[in-house]
Amino acid sequence: MTAVHRVLYVASEAYPLIKTGGLADVAGSLPEVLRQQGLDVRLLVPAYADLLHGLDTPSEAVAELSLEGDTVRILQCFLPGTSLRTWLLEHPSFSARAGNPYHDDSGAPWPDNAERFMLLSRAAAAISTSDTALAWRPDILHCNDWHSGPAIALAHLAPLRPRTVFTVHNLAHMGIFDRQTFDRLGLPSLLWQEHGLEYYGQCSFIKAGLVFADEITTVSPSYAREICESPGGMGLEGLLSQRRDHLTGILNGIDSQTWDPASDPHIPTPYDAGTLGGKALNKAALQQQLGLPSRQDCPLLGFVGRLVEQKGLELILPVLEDLLDTPAQLVILGRGDLRYEETLQALASRRPDALSVILDYDETLAHRIEAAADIFLMPSLFEPCGLNQLYSLRYGTVPVVRAVGGLADTVTDASGSALEEGVATGVVFAQPQPDDFLRAVGRAVALWQQPAVWQAVQRAAMAQDFSWQRSAERYLELYRSAID
Ligand code: ADP
Repeated sequence: MTAVHRVLYVASEAYPLIKTGGLADVAGSLPEVLRQQGLDVRLLVPAYADLLHGLDTPSEAVAELSLEGDTVRILQCFLPGTSLRTWLLEHPSFSARAGNPYHDDSGAPWPDNAERFMLLSRAAAAISTSDTALAWRPDILHCNDWHSGPAIALAHLAPLRPRTVFTVHNLAHMGIFDRQTFDRLGLPSLLWQEHGLEYYGQCSFIKAGLVFADEITTVSPSYAREICESPGGMGLEGLLSQRRDHLTGILNGIDSQTWDPASDPHIPTPYDAGTLGGKALNKAALQQQLGLPSRQDCPLLGFVGRLVEQKGLELILPVLEDLLDTPAQLVILGRGDLRYEETLQALASRRPDALSVILDYDETLAHRIEAAADIFLMPSLFEPCGLNQLYSLRYGTVPVVRAVGGLADTVTDASGSALEEGVATGVVFAQPQPDDFLRAVGRAVALWQQPAVWQAVQRAAMAQDFSWQRSAERYLELYRSAID
């Protein structure tokens, strides 16, 4: 078997440098675990202004690349807390612009997103296929989501290229631009075809990865199946089912150091499966922090995530008051669509006795909610993998999830037989209907009212292994087979 040496891992965000969602968690964990397994991995991310501003350690310029009329610099640093060599792509369109990587303060995409992420793609392709001042070329080019999809297509047009892997973290974000933009980017015209970037008359960056990559992965086995069919494939199901032999679902892991209730610096009372009483103290502390009545006689429900349709807001909102009347308290932490933010805020001012809504992005509070809540709500309409249900399992916070994507692959429903066998870890419901969701929460609350049963479910949840080691082994196998 061929030895794998060098991997260039390309992502538009990586924790803790810059994070807006699950992709950052993956890019901040997987490359380092692969490095620890003996690979020479380099991470390439854009040097956003906020990222540069937050760097504790200095970065040094190690190369300058000339890319179709643009000059970029590559700055090198280590991913904080790791020994992973990280390359930051410096260009004014990233480095001289504060704020969110993808959109302005009003939520509108940056008007030059196509140019910016094409630059990321061109840099990745150049490093992978030509002699640059970095004097380093990968055996595997691993790109993620639409932002670096074109790197795969460009690499495949080069005379000498590495093997390529493309991971879909969320097919809903396709990087769609119009024909004029495609022309402006100066891409080879042969890429404008069905077997290229063309997508129903427009240009899609994600297609570049899906069409050309030697191997495609996505972040759970169920999501890999769902995207080969309608509606999960969102118009790309034909292409994806054609490529089914090269499409693998590999579950994400979690950073089990950052998310460990026994040593979590963000939570007032650390605990483990043997000291579950600690959760009640965390619950009391959070109730106090958020101004909720101090009650242990009703369950505390938690929700952390983007406030968007995908996350099941249409299932939660119609029954939210019924939920609170169970009785239960609910804490919601998230930011997202204005219509959801406003509705939630109005409900919270009507029901301050039971509902706390924090419209913010707050890592510490996310940890506190995981530690304090009894039940975690994740009724997503679709969910490629989902991380919060994994954090919840680790924190003994029983998740109520819809049977979809990674949620279906990671949570075992508390059916009679699963409870008897001691393998139940949560409550799973099937139909995307508010009443079905409400019934599922009711089932969870009924279990919560039986402490011995509840603790058995909590312990089974906490015993699950979602560490990155296991997932990294699968990527390693995939790299090897791509090279072979
Ligand atoms: P997605 O990538 O679709 O947003 P995931 O569940 O895969 O969903 O990952 C979301 C990540 O972002 C998790 O680490 C979650 O804790 C975090 N997150 C989302 N919203 C917030 C928020 N408002 N405050 C803190 N963390 C958040």
